[in-house]
Amino acid sequence: MANQDFHWTPEDLAWAAGLFEGEGCIALSRPAATRPQVQWNLVLASTDLDVLERLQTVVGMGQISGPRDRGHKLHWVWCVSRREHVRLLLEAMLPWLGSRRRARAEECLAFFEANPPGMHRSSLCKAGLHVRTEENVRVSVDEQGRVRRRCIPCAQASSRRYYEKTREVA
Ligand SMILES: [Zn+2]
Repeated sequence: MANQDFHWTPEDLAWAAGLFEGEGCIALSRPAATRPQVQWNLVLASTDLDVLERLQTVVGMGQISGPRDRGHKLHWVWCVSRREHVRLLLEAMLPWLGSRRRARAEECLAFFEANPPGMHRSSLCKAGLHVRTEENVRVSVDEQGRVRRRCIPCAQASSRRYYEKTREVA
């Protein structure tokens, strides 16, 4: 889909991506029983409201809430939760993101690609993240004869997280 609503200059995007790279987060909310799909949000918390207001103006999306004082300092939160906005902004910022955040952004975009709006939850894995396909599901039978289905992308992600954690400690 063309980007009709937003007119970003490369400078806008580079600035927004730089800020997002430092403080932002591509956050995933788990599906509630009432919602068929997980929701991806772009979130950025800051103690400087004016920074968030500038971000909101520059990218033309997102809502600012606060102030909140959970933790130690008073802060505000900018959040984009509309699926189409999340997709457009991530795609646009992609070239400026570092490898780790880019991998996360690509995971989110791949999810959107694989999950058109309105897809039912039962077609997704337990985490609500991956479409159940033959390639994505490993079927095995345990000693009691019960059939187990494991989501391969979920298993890979958890072993990658384990690897990164042990590497950080070392
Ligand atoms: Zn999965």
